Amino acid sequence: MKNILVAGGAGYIGSHTVIELINAGYNPIIVDNLSNSKEESIKRVEGIVNKSLTFYKADVLDKDAMRKIFTTHSIDAVINFAGFKAVGESCQKPIEYYHNNIGGLIALVEVMREFNCKNLVFSSSATVYGDPESVPIKEDAKLSTTNPYGSTKLFIEYILKDICKADSSWNVAILRYFNPVGAHESGLIGEDPNGIPNNLCPYITKVAVGKLECLNIFGNDYDTKDGTGVRDFIHVVDLSKGHVLAVNKILENSGLVIVNLGTGTGYSVLEMVNTFSKVLGKEIPYKFAPRRPGDIGTCYADTTKAQEVLGFKATKTLEDMCRDALNFQLKNPNGYN
Ligand code: NAD
Ligand code: UDP
Repeated sequence: MKNILVAGGAGYIGSHTVIELINAGYNPIIVDNLSNSKEESIKRVEGIVNKSLTFYKADVLDKDAMRKIFTTHSIDAVINFAGFKAVGESCQKPIEYYHNNIGGLIALVEVMREFNCKNLVFSSSATVYGDPESVPIKEDAKLSTTNPYGSTKLFIEYILKDICKADSSWNVAILRYFNPVGAHESGLIGEDPNGIPNNLCPYITKVAVGKLECLNIFGNDYDTKDGTGVRDFIHVVDLSKGHVLAVNKILENSGLVIVNLGTGTGYSVLEMVNTFSKVLGKEIPYKFAPRRPGDIGTCYADTTKAQEVLGFKATKTLEDMCRDALNFQLKNPNGYN
């Protein structure tokens, strides 16, 4: 059985991916410093897969701790979810973001090279497309960023491209996620942000259960079907399956692979709100507010390459995303606490 090191595996996308790795016959080894997650998520995953998991509470920046893990286990590939991800916070704390995201990646690849493990899947983001010139967005579109978080993703992409260019024995899959939402259908694991959520989906679920009063829809004057922003929301379980396909691919010595992970369909913020209202069985209160600085109007993926290269196709609907997100919120009114 192949050992896959999952850095950041206690987090939102990591915890779901651990399940899909096990379903596909891989042995995940989880590393997380729990800076933005709780060990409870791993316990929940153990309940779902009905087996105990290998977990190390460690920081990817701590090379000695990472060396110990690589010495204990023969690691075949690494998926790196570890990083900070809040756009607004990255503008306040750029040093912390560059240190953790870029420093963490460098430390990780250094240790991987020492142990001759050169297979890596990296969590990038559609944010590297900046304000896209056209949609759907293809992987060869122009890249740019508007905030330190996005810059960490773009710079890491450059670093990984250079690594692959210099040493052809590296196999790297750069996965550009669009908007991951939803939760595992068990309702046991899901997105559990600290404080008031910045992202749309966790904000709506808190409004749905009365923890927040009303959703502010940022902008109704975009050049879109109903004036609200349009995004490519993708169910986190579909996204997680994309990681398994990416691991399969790099283990075939693929070299560098860069793909979008989205559904290829753009839904508006209002469509998302209305779908939540439908699955909830009552209206989600909302009001229109000014555009959020830095936001773009429309963003959705061209999924042709993901399908051709990885055989990836998202199957879950917007209704699945809303129902599963709501189910997690209802079953866990205080998240993992
Ligand atoms: P998350 O915060 O839930 O998970 C990241 C995990 O990494 C957390 O458990 C955190 O404790 C851990 N971590 C952070 N720094 C670490 C370090 N130095 N050492 C060890 N562990 C560390 O976030 P997520 O939503 O699961 O996102 C996973 C990855 O995907 C991130 O890199 C994020 O930037 C990227 N991404 C996320 C989204 C999204 O909307 N969720 C979109 C695009 C890209
Ligand atoms: N959005 C909103 N209200 C919120 C949070 C988000 O109207 O409280 C909108 C936001 O303006 C964007 C879409 O929802 O059009 C998705 O935002 P999110 O922060 O979830 O992801 P982003 O696409 O910005 O990464």
